[in-house]
Amino acid sequence: MATGQRDYDEVLGVSRSADAQELKKAYRKLAMEFHPDRNPSEDAAAKFKEINQAYEVLSDDQKRQAYDRFGHAGVDGQGGGFDGFQGFEGGFGDIFDAFFGGGQRGGRRRRGPARGADLRFNLRLTFEEAIFGVDKEIEFQRQERCTRCSGKGAEPGTELATCPDCNGAGEIRRSQQSIFGQFVNVAPCGRCSGEGRIVPNPCEDCRGTGRLRAPRKIAVKVPAGVDDGSQIRLAGEGEAGARGGEPGNLYVVLSVADHEKFQRVEDHIVLELPVNVAQAALGAELSIPTLDGDMTFEVPAGTQSGEDFVIRGKGVPHLRGAGRGDMVVRVTVVVPESLSDDQRELLEKLAETMGTPTLPRRSKGFFERIRDAMAG
Ligand SMILES: [Zn+2]
Ligand SMILES: [Zn+2]
Repeated sequence: MATGQRDYDEVLGVSRSADAQELKKAYRKLAMEFHPDRNPSEDAAAKFKEINQAYEVLSDDQKRQAYDRFGHAGVDGQGGGFDGFQGFEGGFGDIFDAFFGGGQRGGRRRRGPARGADLRFNLRLTFEEAIFGVDKEIEFQRQERCTRCSGKGAEPGTELATCPDCNGAGEIRRSQQSIFGQFVNVAPCGRCSGEGRIVPNPCEDCRGTGRLRAPRKIAVKVPAGVDDGSQIRLAGEGEAGARGGEPGNLYVVLSVADHEKFQRVEDHIVLELPVNVAQAALGAELSIPTLDGDMTFEVPAGTQSGEDFVIRGKGVPHLRGAGRGDMVVRVTVVVPESLSDDQRELLEKLAETMGTPTLPRRSKGFFERIRDAMAG
């Protein structure tokens, strides 16, 4: 782990297991405290940056996973670092805006081209792909930066001009007199859409927008242990911004197909195993499927219907940290619905030897099992 950098959990003052809500709360409190607009101390800006970096990583599944595994080295080199914070001089980044609204920065609104839109791509995975991870290539259409004008929107050889309506300010201020006194109404400039510049000679390819729609292929590394609804964020892979604006992000949203034999409950796998009455009473060695192929499973003599057997470490690899969940073999004793004459005779003989059964002892109480069933 890199030296000189504090642990991100420590920076935000949260525990390793903090959930999204706790993170958000801790971040919000610290960001308010150390925002350089509010905090005059010398190290406020550095502190604020550190807080933002910590939140950026801990609140992002993919970055957090890399961080948990490899420390700061795992996230420092990723995709050019922390979006929005390289240009630290120009503003305090998108996270802060998302929390407090851009208006908090008062008159220091960032002028210039707008950031490109975020994109969402729905990626379907098989049950096994989600569990063990997979490399996928996805293809989609998006707005790319125009190569003819390098995204500026101006025909090569020509320049952008300062917007004459707003004189480059990107906003129009109108003073109004009212009975309460004078007040100033500020609205974005309609002519340049707040950019402060106009394109007198639009590029022939993109007609001045600086972008063109084009197909795009991207390799996506799906880590082992993702689940239905997990998101992978690819920074800067969204739509290009108009006229050279920063690109948005691409969110790959995963949907995972069901499995015909297994059910997944978080990082655990449940297998329903039907056995017949004789196997349950006498015990049996059966071949069962697992995520890693077939294995022999011993049904103990006297197994009751609905009894669970846990096989440690045969579940889903944990997305964060090492190890795997467990596999639960849930035995269902199947009573035959029809019998051959021989079977009937044998069972009748058996019945004569057996009295009225008493309920088996269960490790869990009746109500607890019902609650579990309802929760599951
Ligand atoms: Zn303007
Ligand atoms: Zn162009």
